[in-house]
Amino acid sequence: MKPLRLLPYLLVLVFCVVAPVAASAQLAQAVPVDSATARAALLASAKQYPTFYRAVREVQQQDTLLKRLVLVRNGRNDGPAAAFPNGAVRLDVRYLQSPQPGFDDNRMVVVFYHEIGHLHYFRTMPQAQRTPDASERAAFDYSLQATRRLAEAGDCGPLQAGLHFMLLRSQSNDVADPHVRALKNLVQEPAYAEYRRYVARHCPARP
Ligand SMILES: [Zn+2]
Repeated sequence: MKPLRLLPYLLVLVFCVVAPVAASAQLAQAVPVDSATARAALLASAKQYPTFYRAVREVQQQDTLLKRLVLVRNGRNDGPAAAFPNGAVRLDVRYLQSPQPGFDDNRMVVVFYHEIGHLHYFRTMPQAQRTPDASERAAFDYSLQATRRLAEAGDCGPLQAGLHFMLLRSQSNDVADPHVRALKNLVQEPAYAEYRRYVARHCPARP
């Protein structure tokens, strides 16, 4: 056989060798847990993070944007959650199974609505016009709107936690992170001040 005739076979061989390596490299970062583990972790979260659990259930029932909730074991532990343009939200199962430093029920609610905010952004903004900064900004805005609704219904905790951690993160020097860049702008704007005014007027002081 001439060498050129071998090319298709070689390409198939390369694909078969390379594709699984690429897939396993991704899996090293985030491995979906089996469905029994996922169910048990979500049920555990109902006790540990009741407000978060209610928010998840409500969105699953009412918001068609969330196509799939995928619980993963995230090898790198690079945050509790992520959202994808295909409508999937990925949650690191560790955050549901046991309390992680700095993440209580209120903050988990903020995290979850942040990811739903990304899904809204993916749906409303054509791919060519999306930017990481605008995506983060949309996610933060959405989490503020959603947690303000909770505050109006009597639970100020998530809104207070969101405002607190957004301000904290806005002070980071990690300007390579689009979250930080979006927050540096957000906390300077009247909308953020308005949320703070709302909390000062209507919410009890945080312990
Ligand atoms: Zn984000």
